[in-house]
Amino acid sequence: MEANKTNKTQQTTPIRPYYRKKICKFCADKSLVIDYKRPDILKNFITERGKIIPSRISGTCSKHQRKLAREIKKARIMALLPFVVY
Ligand SMILES: [Zn+2]
Repeated sequence: MEANKTNKTQQTTPIRPYYRKKICKFCADKSLVIDYKRPDILKNFITERGKIIPSRISGTCSKHQRKLAREIKKARIMALLPFVVY
């Protein structure tokens, strides 16, 4: 009886039981702009080594991830963000 009950409720992804649906931060918060002049926002999406965090980790949607990558690359040229961190 009890086992039957849990089977009915847990029909989502049995392999990853603690999977949470990731949300795009830029879709959720419209005031958050992706701009190369805002390294304070962009630095949340790069690692401590200076690499761009992939969307499968950060949950950013493909549209915003493309824009983000472009703006990070611009910011690097403007020396607002690092290319590499040793
Ligand atoms: Zn988005």
